[in-house]
Amino acid sequence: MHTVITENDESIWEDQTGFLYHFPKRYRKYLTPGTEVIYYKGKIKKAEFRDKRLSDDPHYFAKAVIGKVYPDKQSAKGDFFATIEGYASFNIPVLAKQNEEFLEVIPDSQRSNYWRNGVREITRETYNLILSHIKPEQISEQEAIYNDGDYNDTEISLESGSEGTEKKQYVTVYERDPKYRKQAIAIHGTNCAACGFNFGQFYGDYADGFIHIHHINPVSEFDTPKAINPEKDLIPLCANCHSVIHRKKSNTLTIQELVHMINQQVRTD
Ligand SMILES: [Zn+2]
Ligand SMILES: [Zn+2]
Repeated sequence: MHTVITENDESIWEDQTGFLYHFPKRYRKYLTPGTEVIYYKGKIKKAEFRDKRLSDDPHYFAKAVIGKVYPDKQSAKGDFFATIEGYASFNIPVLAKQNEEFLEVIPDSQRSNYWRNGVREITRETYNLILSHIKPEQISEQEAIYNDGDYNDTEISLESGSEGTEKKQYVTVYERDPKYRKQAIAIHGTNCAACGFNFGQFYGDYADGFIHIHHINPVSEFDTPKAINPEKDLIPLCANCHSVIHRKKSNTLTIQELVHMINQQVRTD
């Protein structure tokens, strides 16, 4: 399947370009695992975004493949997240309109509202047509750049205490990588997987969404990023549980061991 996905400069959706796409359930049928997608951006609305776009006009700016699709646990409306794989951005824009004609085929029944749909199924021909306007060397397969400013979730993790910097080494690089964090949170939510603690519920809005992400059983600190499966390898833990799990550098506890400890403690208190 082939689909165009929209990512505008400002949006209510929690997208992370190249990592995560967040969408309402009505689009789920167009975004199944393996769907080849092309990223689209509508016309510029605020000049402040000019530097971050390839063009002021509606255009396509990247291609990718849908990885897995997960329900958004925070959403009351049944929204979804899709993980994005194989993201490759264009170095030049492919304008949505070429020689006064749109590259996408607008069905007669959707003349008036076609562009209102942020997610649009296209045919293989249209997909190829869009890509035919860009040369392979104008496509960059570098990883998308993450810029959310939400880094401190991991920066503070496990760096305090007497063991200080030494301890830090035992937290894997993936736990510090914001893109895997975002995917893991979309998949697993923000409750601690060991004790159930939720920062937002306990501290209120200010802490809402805060959680540490723990990498289960890392084979090596130097695994290639592609080896990470955020569904199986990463898990949310509160700051306390995360610290305990890493307390002994020679032995990172399993989630089961930690849960067992907590339960034992409750019983004998
Ligand atoms: Zn916990
Ligand atoms: Zn950890």
